[in-house]
Amino acid sequence: MSNYNSAAIEEFKGGVWVFCEQRQGKMMPTSFELISEGRKLADELGEKLYGLLLGHEIEGIAKELGGYGADGVYVCDHPLLANYTTDGYTKVICDVIQEYKPEVMLIGATNIGRDLGPRCAARLHTGLCADCTHLDIDVPKYKDFLRSASTLAPAMIDSIPEDDRNLKMTRPAFGGHLMATIICPRFRPAMATVRPGVMKKNAFDQAKADACEIIKPNFSLTEDDMETQVVEVVKAAKKLVDLIGADVVVSVGRGISKDVEGGIKLAEELAEVLGGVVGGSRATIDSGWLSADHQVGQTGKTVHPKIYVALGISGAIQHKAGMQDSECIIAVNKNDTAPIFEIADYGICGDLFKVTPMLIEAIKAAKA
Ligand code: FAD
Repeated sequence: MSNYNSAAIEEFKGGVWVFCEQRQGKMMPTSFELISEGRKLADELGEKLYGLLLGHEIEGIAKELGGYGADGVYVCDHPLLANYTTDGYTKVICDVIQEYKPEVMLIGATNIGRDLGPRCAARLHTGLCADCTHLDIDVPKYKDFLRSASTLAPAMIDSIPEDDRNLKMTRPAFGGHLMATIICPRFRPAMATVRPGVMKKNAFDQAKADACEIIKPNFSLTEDDMETQVVEVVKAAKKLVDLIGADVVVSVGRGISKDVEGGIKLAEELAEVLGGVVGGSRATIDSGWLSADHQVGQTGKTVHPKIYVALGISGAIQHKAGMQDSECIIAVNKNDTAPIFEIADYGICGDLFKVTPMLIEAIKAAKA
């Protein structure tokens, strides 16, 4: 651990990297989202975009990342990387970063990413902004000024080194009441974990996937580097709800409290006729009415379905943070001043136990 040094910024060669998480040889959706976002950042920086893929016998899935925008993928294949371990992954990632010195490193804020990101950042002695919801590049403003107000040739302006450029990392702060934009000006790589489901995936391009370069970096990993050993992977018997990938989400809030079972049943029925899944506000998770995988919001999942229905949800800022980018928001609330109505495309002021059955019947009739 002690042989990792914080390198001076000028030592960093550039490039935007994305840690691409796979489990049992299947790429996690967040990898495609981050590659797509990384493409935009790399283009703004005039840099290349690389995926960093760890695992065992995973080379076959690497090129797919090219289809979403990666110029290349660093593939680190080793039997000791077959299952995720904090020690093994951290060792290999830090070794490879020290060798190639990227400027930006993005990691999905999944359970694995949240474990891995801070460990790598501490070891590399650089900064990490956790749980970002927006990323941008801070290009020095004087260049824009020169472009608009001087007679210098564009090529000459472009050739001015942008050594003070930074990754702008935005995340909710103070319980979600304000958004903080953070930069890491003194160390590289600038590291960010990014909430799954927030960044939009590019359309897949097979030609780009075919052209994607596969690089096999040198690294060493032995049993001695590992403090932990995965004995067995036991998958949860229960199928978790796929909120992020759903086109329709019907969420319930504390408004169902007078008949919890009946309220959830109504949400399930409405979700079924619309071809969607059931979500919930944190109040419903904290009360034990729904399991944690249903939670939408700042500390739950971020969704942007085609239709989001909020039944008996007040619209607290932390809930809105996870659903306000939905294409169409329909809110049912008996209080006409509920904040959810401020962002709803269609607001129905009424008792959800009366309104929801009417919605279900109307949709069934329209389909018949
Ligand atoms: P309430 O705010 O109690 O609202 C219930 C609503 O139901 C009211 O508007 C009421 O008018 C309406 N209602 C009642 N009866 C009926 C009826 N019969 N018919 C129709 N309407 C009815 N919250 C999240 O959701 N997701 C998060 O990820 C999240 N993260 C958080 C993180 C932090 C750090 C903090 C501090 C809070 C977080 N919260 C989160 C909690 C958030 O602040 C709110 O407390 C929560 O969203 C409220 O849930 P709710 O809207 O279901 O309940």
